[in-house]
Amino acid sequence: MEMGKLTRQQSKQILHAAGLRATAPRVAVLRLLSSADRPLSHAEVVDELGTEDWDAATLYRNLIKLDEAGLARVASRVGGVTRFAAQDQGTSTHLHPHFACRDCGDVRCLEDAKVSLPPNSSKWLEALSDAEVQVVGQCPDCREPRGRRSRRRRQ
Ligand SMILES: [Zn+2]
Ligand SMILES: [Zn+2]
Repeated sequence: MEMGKLTRQQSKQILHAAGLRATAPRVAVLRLLSSADRPLSHAEVVDELGTEDWDAATLYRNLIKLDEAGLARVASRVGGVTRFAAQDQGTSTHLHPHFACRDCGDVRCLEDAKVSLPPNSSKWLEALSDAEVQVVGQCPDCREPRGRRSRRRRQ
């Protein structure tokens, strides 16, 4: 399941614990990633949070900072688009495959799709936690007949 939306206070604590300053845009980016039910691209973060004060470059810098601090991770690079997901400390929040649609470009979490590991799996677990497992195809929305299709429909 998703990590759940962090409160502003929780976000600040997590940032401080990671040795980062809890600036307003950084808190906002972390909260957005933690509440999203799928990995988000920089453009999607800008769509959600972009303002005159928080321009695309500011939001990008903060995404990278969170990534460097281990609070976010790159969950997908399908189609040359880097998408970020919040990384729960000590757990493997995003240790599941992601489905990337080659038509609409959406990337979704396949929470219940497990990756089977080799028998001696402790080494693989570590490797996999840093890996991007991608399934690429046509998503259910795009498979629907024309007319009934609505992009970004949530289940
Ligand atoms: Zn699609
Ligand atoms: Zn995911």
